[in-house]
Amino acid sequence: MRWRILYFMRVVQKFGGTSVADAERIRHVAGQVAGRVGAGDEVVVVVSAMGNRTDELIDLALEVSPDPDPRELDQLLATGEHMSAALLAMALHAMEQEAVGLTGSQAGIYSRASHGSGRIQRIDADRIEEELRAGRIPIVAGFQGVTEEADYVTLGRGASDLTAVALGVALGADRCETYKDVEGVYTADPRIVPAARRLADVHYEEMLEMATQGSQVMHNRAVEVAATNELPILVASSMVDGPGTLIHGGSEMEERNRVRGVVDDHDIAKVTLRHVPDRRGIAAQIFEPLAEAGVSVDTIVQNASERNLTDLTFTLARGDLRRAAGLMDDICEAIGADGYTADTNLGKVSIVGAGIQTEPGYAARMFRALADAEVNIDLITTSEIRITCIVHEDHMGQAVNALHTAFGLDDPDRV
Ligand code: ASP
Ligand code: MG
Repeated sequence: MRWRILYFMRVVQKFGGTSVADAERIRHVAGQVAGRVGAGDEVVVVVSAMGNRTDELIDLALEVSPDPDPRELDQLLATGEHMSAALLAMALHAMEQEAVGLTGSQAGIYSRASHGSGRIQRIDADRIEEELRAGRIPIVAGFQGVTEEADYVTLGRGASDLTAVALGVALGADRCETYKDVEGVYTADPRIVPAARRLADVHYEEMLEMATQGSQVMHNRAVEVAATNELPILVASSMVDGPGTLIHGGSEMEERNRVRGVVDDHDIAKVTLRHVPDRRGIAAQIFEPLAEAGVSVDTIVQNASERNLTDLTFTLARGDLRRAAGLMDDICEAIGADGYTADTNLGKVSIVGAGIQTEPGYAARMFRALADAEVNIDLITTSEIRITCIVHEDHMGQAVNALHTAFGLDDPDRV
């Protein structure tokens, strides 16, 4: 007889809201988890709130108060994930599988008290390790941490991904698996580009750019934590069996397509300050008040000045525009600018790929493809592995499809 060394994985499996939307789906997930444990792997589970529960809870809060207290809102929102964790544990019990539902607090996830936008400070994984040793599957409520004073703090919308990755790191897991309502990471949003394809794998840096530029597949801070700690993440569907997409830092094949994806983002607004005096300290005077108000600015473009006057443009999320606009008159007055304009009829389209940086001509090809598709470019920004154009929102569909074709992503053999 030949001996085979069996290698069992320690894995954190995360199930998103759609995957646990109702009792039937929860039972399905329980079956998946139990199967995995039965095969010998050591599994820790992280769950999101059921379906649109988080939105419903926010609506409910707004029905009782126009301006809900941030601490109480977090107390409320945390319960969405508590429900899923308890229900999934029950479903596993019904399959004769030992499991225990844990709140973020019971799971030892600590955060500072910035309600609604907490950051994970540390994880004390003793309880989870204890449960694992006792043969119980820990089912952890995602999206939340707790302060040293035992108050709940939520980590930002969609941040159950982050919980899963951070737990994976704290537990020394071999990988993190996130099960979603998509079959993986695609070369573009399949709802916009019919020819979009699933990527078998994608580099951390590429995924981080995609997530930051508007891809909804993975939370960007989750990708960041995975990249710094080199924890691979598998993105797969919880409904259909399939290989999914592996996000990792593994070796790159030179032959593969250099542009990995086209990403679109509609959540963008633009502010332009006209005739800004070209003086030392002006930019600080503009952006300090915005930062203090918690407005996070994306792209900033300042032109070379002509007769000591310049225009300065920046973009931001649409939801932040009202807050920013409330400050702009004062800012214009303080710096002696002529005034400002705001525009929300825009979208952002990016090409992303680690190979872009080592080969010239990508920008030119992108602009040519957009020109041929009759799309006018409003603003351009780049990083080492990304080129982004801001265009009119009515042209977004054309733009994304044209770029998908121009960079060979329609072709199954090149993706
Ligand atoms: N339930 C939270 C949300 O809807 C967190 C998550 O789903 O990841 O934002
Ligand atoms: Mg977005």
